[in-house]
Amino acid sequence: MFGLLTDSAFEASDRYFTLENYEGGVARWCPSCGDHAVLSAVQRICRDEQIPTEKIVAVSGIGCSSRFPHYIHAYGFHGLHGRALPVASGIRARRPDLHIWVATGDGDCCSIGAGHWLHAVRYNMNMTVMLFDNAVYGLTKNQTSPTSPVGLSTNTHPRGAWLPPLNILQTTLGMTNASFVARTLDWNALHLYQTLKAAHAHKGLSFVHILQRCPTYTADVFGELQKTPDRILLLKHERGVRVDDAVGRMYKNQLEHDPSDINEARALAENADRVAVGLFYHNPKAPQYDEYTAQGLGWSAEDKIQALEKELDRFAI
Ligand code: SF4
Repeated sequence: MFGLLTDSAFEASDRYFTLENYEGGVARWCPSCGDHAVLSAVQRICRDEQIPTEKIVAVSGIGCSSRFPHYIHAYGFHGLHGRALPVASGIRARRPDLHIWVATGDGDCCSIGAGHWLHAVRYNMNMTVMLFDNAVYGLTKNQTSPTSPVGLSTNTHPRGAWLPPLNILQTTLGMTNASFVARTLDWNALHLYQTLKAAHAHKGLSFVHILQRCPTYTADVFGELQKTPDRILLLKHERGVRVDDAVGRMYKNQLEHDPSDINEARALAENADRVAVGLFYHNPKAPQYDEYTAQGLGWSAEDKIQALEKELDRFAI
């Protein structure tokens, strides 16, 4: 009798992933661009959670932040402008085993991709959506974006942006079936890490609004917030984003906010005087469309034919 000698077969030891394992190409964002901080936070989370690189996929649209998939060692899809979310939804529908990180910007998501944004929130498929908000179109060299503040001088509005900026969280929280909505800042590495970690742990679509520095075109937009953090309101709760001591010491204005309270979450999003950061809203019981699309996954060809015939038999005359 010949066969495999399984009793002496080599057993590979468990893999251990270091940060280097998640390094992709050299990031070509401008020096001090906030995108570097977000990339680093995601790589740390992947290392801390020991996620195999082949189980990660980064999906993006077009814009500076959408270079993200090139810089993380994982599967990636650098798609069309505004189309990150439908691509990510398609991946989620067929591959429930993957960890999906979506990188999109204020121009990419809130303008040409706005329809996809709203419906992706409603579909609530399991993925972490990071909206990098630098308040400008950076890749195409300084045009007004939906979140540019009134008066910001850009190439399209040299005398200053005319319309009030779109309120990203107000819009997201107004959408049916939102399940995880948070905001963080790229210049506070601890808060950024804890927010993205909580978002990644959520089952469903977690939407994280990241205030992102763009020193090249909008250095002044978040400059005041960085120098005088008094306008920042730190949201705290036992079911919210973990607040490390160093973060608590930095932001004196704090609020105990229950993330299951949608009305208070909306009120916080509308408040222009204070910039709240942390978990605005969390509903772990919101229906997920990927539970529906997962039906039938793993069936054999025979199973599928049998199911098809059974369905067609319903119309037999
Ligand atoms: Fe970052 Fe702005 Fe440079 Fe784009 S233009 S890479 S957003 S600093």
